[in-house]
Amino acid sequence: MSSILVVLEQRDGVLHKSSLEALSAAQQMGAALNARVFAGVLGSGVEAAAQTVAGYKLDKVHAIDHELLKQYTPDGYTAALKQLIETYLPTWVLFPHTYQVRDFAPKLATALNRVLISDVIAHRIENGALVLVRQLFQGKLNADVRFEGEPPYLASIQAGAFRADSLQAGTAPVEKTTPDLKPGQIRTKPLELFRESQRAVDLGAAQIIVSVGRGIKEAENIPVVQKLADALGAELAASRPICDSGWLPMERQVGSSGQTVAPKMYVAVGISGAIQHLVGMKGSKTIVAINKDAEAPIFEVADYGIVGDLFQVVPALVEEIKKAKG
Ligand SMILES: Cc1cc2nc3c(=O)[nH]c(=O)nc-3n(C[C@H](O)[C@H](O)[C@H](O)COP(=O)(O)OP(=O)(O)OC[C@H]3O[C@@H](n4cnc5c(N)ncnc54)[C@H](O)[C@@H]3O)c2cc1C
Repeated sequence: MSSILVVLEQRDGVLHKSSLEALSAAQQMGAALNARVFAGVLGSGVEAAAQTVAGYKLDKVHAIDHELLKQYTPDGYTAALKQLIETYLPTWVLFPHTYQVRDFAPKLATALNRVLISDVIAHRIENGALVLVRQLFQGKLNADVRFEGEPPYLASIQAGAFRADSLQAGTAPVEKTTPDLKPGQIRTKPLELFRESQRAVDLGAAQIIVSVGRGIKEAENIPVVQKLADALGAELAASRPICDSGWLPMERQVGSSGQTVAPKMYVAVGISGAIQHLVGMKGSKTIVAINKDAEAPIFEVADYGIVGDLFQVVPALVEEIKKAKG
């Protein structure tokens, strides 16, 4: 019988949000393929995290425990997972598409002489075979990808593509494994972990959000959208590149690595609608998109769309709002 191993990410015993989504993907694929589903949790002292995972419908949880896995290193994770995969021979190995996975999964795939299909957003079964869907050209095209050759088949699941709240509960046995690791195998010395910025602005409480993307072109143009936010009494938010460039503070970022918002109205200005952005705002009651590209994926979730140059559309809107408000 075929099987799926889903490798979950934890930090200090707490599972990464994307891990639960990958687990959900594994459950769904397992049911569709009639495959057994196993989870793997790596670290040092991972019992607590493994027990949490054991509360979901799974065939088994592998707690892969070793002092040398206490801190993440690509060498340690690759060696430990290679041993696990070569012992249990899963047909598919799924990962959440996190920064950590992006760091080590290509190395693991190479060590196994396999490819990795990254950023998977959906799946379906065709003639009994698994077809994975991933996005190309900033979400404008969806590509179907099939594995060829011998298993294991490795894939990472994009954040927000599968829902953690559709996870099925259950009781799975936990099996602790100690991989064979030697200090000499670990060639990197981890420094302090990256910490996400503190959130002083609670976008989650905003009724109206005006969100700006790379279409704004330069930091100097931010006042163009700030005027729209002021006219609407809205909070200003942004897509990730705007915050990465320091044009607005990180706490105003919406998306998979920013805040999740669900205001009454979300106005996306010059935002393409990448899946990592959509997962943070698609729960908004009314979505308005302003984009000069009629094919931009943001229009797929928008209730109202304006195809046009934001530098013309936004000032005109501000004028009209001011007139309407008297
Ligand atoms: C692990 C990971 C996590 C991520 N997390 C996030 C996240 O939390 N939030 C997030 O937003 N992104 C996130 N991203 C990045 C995401 O993939 C996209 O790159 C990003 O959302 C694109 O931002 P954008 O839409 O502003 O820019 P672009 O994709 O460059 O889009 C700019 C848009 O502006 C339009 N435009 C250009 N000029 C004008 C004009 N004059 N008038 C009108 N429209 C115009 C263009 O047509 C285009 O659609 C993440 C990526 C990864 C890999």
